[in-house]
Amino acid sequence: MEICQQILEKIKEYDTIIIHRHMKPDPDALGSQVGLKALLTHHFPEKTIKAVGFNEPTLTWMAEMDTVQDSDYQGALAIICDTANRPRIDDKRYEQAAFTIKIDHHPNDDIYGDLSWVDTSSSSASEMIALFAQENQLTLSSEAARLLYAGIVGDTGRFLYPSTSARTFRIASQLREIDFDFAGLSRQMDTMSFKIAKLQGYVYDHLEVDENGAARVLLTQDILKKYKVTDAETAAIVGAPGRIDTVKAWAIFVEQADGHFRVRMRSKITPINEIAKRHDGGGHPLASGANSYSLEENEQIYKELKEALQIHQG
Ligand code: AMP
Repeated sequence: MEICQQILEKIKEYDTIIIHRHMKPDPDALGSQVGLKALLTHHFPEKTIKAVGFNEPTLTWMAEMDTVQDSDYQGALAIICDTANRPRIDDKRYEQAAFTIKIDHHPNDDIYGDLSWVDTSSSSASEMIALFAQENQLTLSSEAARLLYAGIVGDTGRFLYPSTSARTFRIASQLREIDFDFAGLSRQMDTMSFKIAKLQGYVYDHLEVDENGAARVLLTQDILKKYKVTDAETAAIVGAPGRIDTVKAWAIFVEQADGHFRVRMRSKITPINEIAKRHDGGGHPLASGANSYSLEENEQIYKELKEALQIHQG
């Protein structure tokens, strides 16, 4: 693939490479970012290669971020992984880099970067990084393989979602050939704390489902406090409503400290990303995120979700 070679040529040109990803990182954001860092560090030990962004406490078992000075950006290459739109890039200093590259698998709603590789047929940005290595015949270290595998597992719901392709399995299989603690990683990704298990119980108890399978639940600040969970930790229960047979699409409204709501939306078949786009968000057709600024807007989003399913049924 020509784009993979073009990206490698750019990487060769720069002494300093700073790798970014989206805010509120998930395993794919970190897997692609730090997996790429591990790959490049292995092959270009003479270069300064850093991963930048907020250190998400629930994901430090995957990787920790580097300290990056403003001066590091002078004449540097910035690579942004897994981030569809500029406002969601963690750390705005990418703008100060001499050259920027976007590597992403979300719909290309915001075209940015001096060079851009967007592949919506990829299950995950981590799959793309593994492909990049393969296309350029760059071997992956054990650490890179662990991170990329974790990213793929994260974004496919462990090979459950329709974005899981034959290529995803092929790449996962190739990563599995590399020696890393596969059992430990799998256990880590399948484990939840007792408080999350209880929050999941709350979600099942309070889920509202209409006759077409549109579901919603509200997690207020009080509930988050009661269960002692952070906004980031709600990631662990986002898929839970989908395990119910009658649920076709769902929205989890998570109240934020400033009073607005992060809306985590998922669907089994009917696309929901247009709804997310209308409410300060976006994402994949079947996995999107939005922001709501009032209880009325919450109602409106649920109404749109119900209508989308109604149209799909009819
Ligand atoms: P989440 O519910 O946060 O896991 O997000 C699900 C998907 O929607 C991810 O692929 C995100 O990249 C995307 N997404 C979430 N929030 C936003 C947003 N505010 N703007 C654009 N895309 C988003």
